[in-house]
Amino acid sequence: MTDLTDPIFHDEEAARAHLEAVRWANGVFCPHCGSFDCHRLETGTHRAGLFYCRDCRGQFSVTVGTVFERSHVPLHKWVLANYQRWLGLSEQRFASDRWLPCRLLT
Ligand SMILES: [Zn+2]
Repeated sequence: MTDLTDPIFHDEEAARAHLEAVRWANGVFCPHCGSFDCHRLETGTHRAGLFYCRDCRGQFSVTVGTVFERSHVPLHKWVLANYQRWLGLSEQRFASDRWLPCRLLT
């Protein structure tokens, strides 16, 4: 049973760490060139969750190349929305959750 008090559902950094663990279970790779020669850029001087690829010299985050990439919806809400779907809630019930923006439903 999913614990809805889990920080991944209400904390942006925890949600980002969760997505990174799921997407990059076998190591961080560059979504631009596929290289594993990447490192995390320090938070404070760069946006949180930003990586640098030494091969193509590109920057990326865990959302690049995913449906989350251009979204302004916080990641923890995406994670919660996806868990609700995986739990089998009906679309009608899903749509009744007022905090969800309409574009999540299309
Ligand atoms: Zn690259």
